[in-house]
Amino acid sequence: MVTPDWQIHEYNPDFYILRESGCTNYEKPFLYLIFGKERVLLFDTGAGKTVDTRGMVNQVIGRWLKRQARPEIRLLVTHSHGHGDHVAGDAQFRDVAGVEFVEPKVKAVQTAFGIPSWPDTNGAIDLGDRVLDVIPIPGHQEASIALYDRKTGVLLTGDSVYPGRLYVADWEQYRASIGRLVSFTDGKVITHVLGCHIEQTRQPYLDYPTGTTYQPDEHSLEMGRAELLELHAALQKLGSTPTRAAYRDFTIWPVKRRTAASGQ
Ligand SMILES: [Zn+2]
Ligand SMILES: [Zn+2]
Repeated sequence: MVTPDWQIHEYNPDFYILRESGCTNYEKPFLYLIFGKERVLLFDTGAGKTVDTRGMVNQVIGRWLKRQARPEIRLLVTHSHGHGDHVAGDAQFRDVAGVEFVEPKVKAVQTAFGIPSWPDTNGAIDLGDRVLDVIPIPGHQEASIALYDRKTGVLLTGDSVYPGRLYVADWEQYRASIGRLVSFTDGKVITHVLGCHIEQTRQPYLDYPTGTTYQPDEHSLEMGRAELLELHAALQKLGSTPTRAAYRDFTIWPVKRRTAASGQ
């Protein structure tokens, strides 16, 4: 009763980190809202049948508009990938006037962000004086992407890199994707690597069991390029055999391919 449905963290006045409460859904996903001069981007729409993402997003946008003394801004909705715990609020945005909605499917993402050859080339989104690079990173799920915000240096990695169980559905694709992500970040300012879940505790190598709703001693959300390099080195070392392997801040966790409708 006393836990709010959403935690809203203002990273800066134009960048918001939104977290769904464990009481609404145990996945407790993180969503991101990034403002440019022309458009605002929502990355993912939440988990669980009862999620009210639109109300929360409208509230944050309303506050931003008030501060800017502007009447409106266009909303663009896209996803880290197509799993159920990241698309549950889609119906609240699809076919809504003034909202540009990109389906979490390879073709739709390719078209929307100008990706000529999936997954080997990158695309971009210009929100108005704010360009985000779109990097295809299939492997956790076929339509997985990472976003790089050139303004803050933040790299959003969805379920592909975060402090927790990194479920890998397509091992070879995932290995190649992490390799491309490492190359992409080479020589760039990477302030934070932010994923969509936390399953790791603050104790090295220890994660919370699946389904945990309350995590008072959880790992911080943010990781850095060091963890990305560690993940890359681990995947190189493991080679072509899908292998579960625990590291200090994450576990590589091969799984059978799942349908887009199921969770994680
Ligand atoms: Zn997922
Ligand atoms: Zn997920």
